[in-house]
Formats: sequence, C-alpha cells, structure tokens
Amino acid sequence: MWMFATAGNLSILDSPKGILHITASGRDKSKLTEHDFIQIELSSKNPLENTPNLKPSAETSIHTALYSLYPSISCVLHVHTPSSCALEFGLSRANPIQWIDLPNSEILKAFGDFTEEPNLKVLAVHNHGHVPDIASEMTHALENHQSKVPFFLIENHGITAWGQNVYDANKNLEAAEFVLQVMVARQKK
Ligand SMILES: [Zn+2]
Repeated sequence: MWMFATAGNLSILDSPKGILHITASGRDKSKLTEHDFIQIELSSKNPLENTPNLKPSAETSIHTALYSLYPSISCVLHVHTPSSCALEFGLSRANPIQWIDLPNSEILKAFGDFTEEPNLKVLAVHNHGHVPDIASEMTHALENHQSKVPFFLIENHGITAWGQNVYDANKNLEAAEFVLQVMVARQKK
C-alpha cells in the first residue's frame, strides 16, 4: 500500500512508441484499471487523446524529465510516505537542492552496490509549489552529478523511484523507503 489518500502517481513507458502511460489526477491508486491511465507522447509531452474526464497528474513533468535523463528506464513511481516527510534537510527556494548521505545499511545492495561501505548519497529537492520547478531542479542536479541510487526525494513531500520495469522500480522504491525509515529511527536517538 503506497498510494496514501489517493496521492502519488505511477507511469510506464512504451519505449518503442515513445508513449508514456501515467495515472490520471485524482484517481484512487489502490483500485487502478487501464481507464485510470492517460497516454502522453514523450517527445511533445502532450496527452495523446483528450479524454474529457481525465487530467494528467500534476507531477507528469517529473516523470517525463526522468525518462529523458535515463533512456533505459521504463517505470517511474512517485509516492508520499511518512518517513520522506519526517526527514528535514533545510531546503528552500534559495537553497533548493542537497545531496544527502545514506546510512551504510545492508538494504543498499538492492541498488546493486555490494561494497562494504558504499557511502551513497541521494538527491533531495525543495518542494516547490510549481511542480515543473521541482522537475527542472532535479534535472539540473542529476545532469551535474551522477546519482548512484535510483530515486530522489522531494522534501516534506515524497519519494520518486525508477527502474527498468515495474518490478525493478517497486524494488527500488521499497529499498528507498526502508533506508529512509532507518534514517528517521537514527534521528530519534
Ligand atoms: Zn507528490
């Protein structure tokens, strides 16, 4: 159960066609059917068909930016979790990004790093009210610094994880939430 209070969104890319299938705004993500997805052309970022009662997710710009950054991925999952909101990084409009140290826990092997002390960092971005600003800050940061983990954080908002397919992305999301829960527990000490 990831999609608390219907929030969050997920997308799958049909790479050969360059078509993104993304959950429409306001749908209950715990009961998804094919009718809850909207199709978007990745190159133009425009919806393919104008289904009158379906609106693309407000966070579509984050999904399209990630597919452009990482051509080999085909699934992006964006969720709101308590632990991603419990952690504070002190970001603001003036200081909108930061690379955060992840604790060297065993779960990091889920990201393919089997070194004893991987010392991985994750990107955290300020929760701009205008979502495309989050997408552009994220793109700029990930272009300038290669992320070794397949997820990033929006402060006081949530986790966005990606993968080669839906199973890979879900594994990455579970591992991300796990490591964030470890960070929250350590902060409480
Ligand atoms: Zn969100």
